[in-house]
Amino acid sequence: MTTRPEPSSTEGTAPEVRHAPGRRPGLLHRRMVREPVVGRAPTWSEAISAAVAVGVLSGVLELGVLMAQMQGIHYVDWTTLMISRHAGWLIPATSAVLVILAAIPMMAPMLALAAWRMRRSPGVIEPGPAWGWTGAVLGFLLFLGPMLAIRGLHPIAPMAIAVGLGYRTRRLIVRPTLGWKRQIPIAAVAGIGLLGLLVATQWHVEASAKGPAVFRAGKPTPNLLWIVLDTLRADRMSLYGYHRPTTPRLDAWARRGITFETARSTAPWTLPSHISMFTGLWPSEHGACVDRAYHLDRPTIAEHLRDQGYATAGIVANVRMCNTSYGVGRGFDHYVDYPWRDEVSLEMALTSSALGPMAISLARRVGFHLIDFYPYDYHQPATTIAAEGRQWIESQAGDRRPYFLFLNFMDVHGPYLPMAETPQRFYHGPPPSKDSARPEDGWKAARALEAADPAQHDARQKEVEAVARRLGDLYDECLSGLDDQVGRLLENLREEGRLANTWVVITGDHGEHFGEHGHFGHGSSLYNEQTHVPLILIPPTARDDSHPDRFAHARGRRIAAPVSLRDLPSTMTGLLLPGDRSPFPGQNLARHWRSNAPVEPDAVLSQLDEPRLKGDDFRTSDILWMEAIVAEDHTMIEYSRRPTELFSLKFDPKQQHNLADRPEQSERRARMHKRLDELCPRDRDR
Ligand SMILES: [Zn+2]
Repeated sequence: MTTRPEPSSTEGTAPEVRHAPGRRPGLLHRRMVREPVVGRAPTWSEAISAAVAVGVLSGVLELGVLMAQMQGIHYVDWTTLMISRHAGWLIPATSAVLVILAAIPMMAPMLALAAWRMRRSPGVIEPGPAWGWTGAVLGFLLFLGPMLAIRGLHPIAPMAIAVGLGYRTRRLIVRPTLGWKRQIPIAAVAGIGLLGLLVATQWHVEASAKGPAVFRAGKPTPNLLWIVLDTLRADRMSLYGYHRPTTPRLDAWARRGITFETARSTAPWTLPSHISMFTGLWPSEHGACVDRAYHLDRPTIAEHLRDQGYATAGIVANVRMCNTSYGVGRGFDHYVDYPWRDEVSLEMALTSSALGPMAISLARRVGFHLIDFYPYDYHQPATTIAAEGRQWIESQAGDRRPYFLFLNFMDVHGPYLPMAETPQRFYHGPPPSKDSARPEDGWKAARALEAADPAQHDARQKEVEAVARRLGDLYDECLSGLDDQVGRLLENLREEGRLANTWVVITGDHGEHFGEHGHFGHGSSLYNEQTHVPLILIPPTARDDSHPDRFAHARGRRIAAPVSLRDLPSTMTGLLLPGDRSPFPGQNLARHWRSNAPVEPDAVLSQLDEPRLKGDDFRTSDILWMEAIVAEDHTMIEYSRRPTELFSLKFDPKQQHNLADRPEQSERRARMHKRLDELCPRDRDR
C-alpha cells in the first residue's frame, strides 16, 4: 500500500507511481507506469454519471434484444403482446431510470465505506475496492435488463449471467484513471442525448406513419366493413337452421346479402384463422402460431387496400390473438387491441421494461404499491366495439379516401357472460361468474367421465350433459345479445346512409364445442362444430329500399357449395377494385352468385398443428397435426398418429358415422388424400 503525506483533496493532480488496478503487481513493477492519483473511490457525481451512461446503454441493449426476437425470429409471448407503441424510447428511458435507481443503493455502502476510511486515514489514497465494486454493480445492471428480455431462459439464468458478465466487465466500465474521470460526464451527457434522439425519432415515425394520401379517381370505390364474430359457430344461428331464434337481426341482414351455407374456417382458433382470411394463405403456409407472428412478405388485405389508397382501421375485442404483435394488425393505419398500448404512463413504462416487473415486486415486498398490472384476459364488449367502430367511420367523413374497417367481436367467446341488459331468453340460471362460464368446466367433467369406473359412468355422463347444456344456453344467450348489437350497428349505419357504398362481410373465425365428440371450447378438433362458420356478404345498401338496386340479383341468395374463408381477400379485392389483379391466392367467391351454371369446386381445407389447449384437451394431446378437406360432399379428416375419418356432409352433419374404412369409399378417400397433397404439400408421415 502506498501512502502520501497530502490529504486526498488533491486527487487527480499529483502524479505518482502506483499499481494500475487489476494488473498483476509483477508486471506493473516492471513497467513502473506513472499514473495520476485518482482517489480511493469514485466520487458520487462520477458514479451517478456512470450509472446514467450504463442505464441508457442497458436500455438500448434491451430494446435491441427485444427487436431481434420480434423482428428477427418473429417471436411472440405474453409480454410482447402488450408492448408499448412508444417502446423505441420508453424502454431505454425506463431502463435507464431503473438502473440509476438500483445502482445508487447498491453502490452506496462501498462509497460510504471509502469515505469513512478516507476520513479516518486521510493519507491513504490508494484506489480501494470501491472502484471494483462500483464497476461490478454497474456491469451487473448493464446486462440484467437485456438478459431478462431474452425469452425462454430459466428464471435464475438472467441473474446469474448478469452477475458473471458484470464481474468480468467491471474494469471496462469503471476505471481508476484520469482518462475515465474525464470521459464519464461526457458519456452521461451522450446517453441523455441518445435518449432525446430516440424520442424524436419515434415522433417522426408516428407523424409519417399515416397511410398514403392517394385515392382513386373516377367512380367512388366502395368501403369495406369486415365483421368477425369470434367463436361463432354457424349451426347455433337461426340463420343456419338452429331451433332457437338466436339471430333474428342477422337473419334479416342476410336477406339483403349472400349467405354461404357451408363456409369453413381454415383453423379452429383465432390467430391462424384471421391470418388466413386476411392473406388467403393456409395456416401451414403462413405459419402464424402461439409463439410466432405472421411475417411473410405476402400482403394482408389491409396492406393491399392501404396501398390502393384506402384508410384502414381495426378495432378488436380479441386483444390477445388479434394482437398487432402477431401481424394481424399489419396494414391498418389505426389499430386498437390493448387500448393502453398508446399510453405514455408509469404503468406502460414499468410493464414494457424488463426490469419493471422486478421493480414492482421488490417495491411490493417493502410494502409499497407502485402499479396494478394490466389484465391479459381483457376484452371489450360488443357495445364498445360497435361504438368505437361507428365513431371511426364518422371520423372519416372529411376524408375522400374509401375505408376498410375491421371489427372483431368476442361476446360468444368463453367465458360466456351474457350482457346484463339482455333479457334471459335461453339461459335461466343464476348469473354466472367468469369462472363458472368457461369451456374448462366442460373439460373437467369430460375428464371425470373418462376416469369414472363403470358404476359411476351414468352419473358422470349426466354431469357432462348438464355442463354442456348450461354452457350452450349461456352461449345462445350471449349470441342473442351479440346479434342485437351487430344488427343495431348495421341498422344505424344504413339509416345514416353510410352503407350506400359499403360492402359488409360478416363471418366467424371458428366455432365452439359443447360436448360433441367429447370436446369443449375450440382449438382442439376439425369437426363441423369448430370449422363450420357463418359467412354473409352484404352488397352496398341504400338508406331507402325503393332506390334502384344494382345488387338486386344477389340479395337473398344462399350458396350451398362449400367455400373457405381463405377466399375472402381475393373475393373482396375483386368486388372493391374490379379489373385490378388480386395479389391473393384463392378464388373470387362472386362466381357462385354471378353464374347460374355449376362452378368449379373450391379448395376447402382446415388445419391444426399441435393442438393448442394442451392443458384441457386431453383427447388430442398425442396429435401433432390434423387436416380436414371438404370435397365431393364429404369431409375427410387426417391425423398424425390416428386413423383417418370420413363423413358425409349432407347426411351426417354431426359426424357420427365414420365412413373411412368402408370399401366403397376407398377411391374417394384416395382422391381426397391426393387433393390434400396437391393443395398443401407437406410431410404427412409424422
Ligand atoms: Zn377466435
